[in-house]
Amino acid sequence: MADLESNAQSAPEGNTEHQGSCAPANGKHNDCEADASGIKLFVPEGVRYNCQGCGRCCSGWSVGMTEEDYGRIKDIDWQSLHPELAGKELFFHREEEFKAGLAGHPHYTKPRADGSCPFLINKLCFIHGHLGEDQKPVTCRLFPYSFVETPSGVYTGVVYNSMAAAKNQGDLLTDQKDALLDYLALTRKYATALNKTAAAMEVKDKPKSLETGAQVDAPVESNVPFQTVELTLGTVVTWEEFLEVDNKLMDLMLNRKDLNIFQVLPAGSEILQKAIRLKRAGSPMTELRDFDPVVASDADMTPGAVEEMTLRTMFYRFFIYPMIRVDEKGLWQMQRRNILNPVNAFMVARSFSRYTFSALGAILFKHAKVPGAGNMNLEAAAKKHFEPLSKELDDYFKRWLYLKLFAKTYFGPAAAGFGVVSGYNCLMASIIAVMIFAKCCATSRKEKALNIDDIYEAYWRLDRELLTMGQVSKQESVAFNFAFATPRLFHKMLFELQQGFKGGS
Ligand code: SF4
Repeated sequence: MADLESNAQSAPEGNTEHQGSCAPANGKHNDCEADASGIKLFVPEGVRYNCQGCGRCCSGWSVGMTEEDYGRIKDIDWQSLHPELAGKELFFHREEEFKAGLAGHPHYTKPRADGSCPFLINKLCFIHGHLGEDQKPVTCRLFPYSFVETPSGVYTGVVYNSMAAAKNQGDLLTDQKDALLDYLALTRKYATALNKTAAAMEVKDKPKSLETGAQVDAPVESNVPFQTVELTLGTVVTWEEFLEVDNKLMDLMLNRKDLNIFQVLPAGSEILQKAIRLKRAGSPMTELRDFDPVVASDADMTPGAVEEMTLRTMFYRFFIYPMIRVDEKGLWQMQRRNILNPVNAFMVARSFSRYTFSALGAILFKHAKVPGAGNMNLEAAAKKHFEPLSKELDDYFKRWLYLKLFAKTYFGPAAAGFGVVSGYNCLMASIIAVMIFAKCCATSRKEKALNIDDIYEAYWRLDRELLTMGQVSKQESVAFNFAFATPRLFHKMLFELQQGFKGGS
């Protein structure tokens, strides 16, 4: 374990010819060699994962199941197999919402009062133990891997809602390519199964004929995403042009060891702004190769109220809202038709007042009940003077950012259709929010240095919420994309936070 723990500190090694285990000769993603099956799989450097059996990823949410998953699990008499399962409701159903396109799956596991999966017994999955690993819901089998299909190939990553991933424990992903290809095949099969379920239920999104009102087939679109990429609202580039931007970002992450996280983040923003200017001027994106991202600094670096409130909104979304959600399971486990029942209507009203009250408290009044820290003044915690960030922590933040950028999960289809700038700003908000979370935890213990265990905990919580944000409705996605599209949105907050890491009282 000591050996594994030491890996938690490793940052990706520098590599001018970037691109994980699929490194091309000339630094371009799309020149990567395909394997025997014709798949180009890009795997990030320095990223480790193997399940360590802590059981933590089996709590905090309900596991979504396809009809196929549910079909093979529902008929087992679980109640008689273990006393912990006896007399328990193990599933709930959202078929109506799934049909309407409002839920990701038709069936879910029903968590216990503490938010853990009902099948988690002594930190082990009872379905796995009783039926075998391949009988678990596919969501569980694929977790925590991500696979993003692009015109260049498939980009792999892991999410930190697994503690082993957050701690960078296990073998390097670059040494697990065969296993990753198996998971990729399963991911593709799973997407097909989910679409089949949707088709069988005549699900959603089919446009209606203006003449008859009947549902008609939507026009056929390319099934390879990212034919084009929205850099920001109204500025769209080809995938080839985006690769120039991506290579520049990867170069920043892998080769600029002289920059700390407070310098890397704004430098990434400058690269995006330069790319937008090039596109709008009709200049070739290759000009980005010679661009040196010098970070602009305003004379006044005091954050404005809008910037602060947007950041606190994200803090609420990442850390406060999920705690209430676990307490209010009745609300999201209810099918829409049940809302007219007076008891349920009362529950809905009570839940929404709770959400609203806590949101206003955090966003407007800067106070929140932070997990692991209790009631905190968020502004005071953010401004509190702390010891400078250690290299270990600086590397940790940079590795998370590198992984997100590499895996292509921060924009486009994997991120509810965010543009690149909005997705990048969301990553910046995430890092600031994690630092505030860890400052709250340390402050509650009267400490003045960030603690790596608080950072693990923060990322474990945050990455789950980034995943759920990727599944929001189209309307919510448009609103988020718009709200995050402002250039250099969180630079002043970042600067203020950096000033707080200079020690002193
Ligand atoms: S079904 Fe098994 S693997 Fe999936 S969340 Fe529940 S306990 Fe964990």
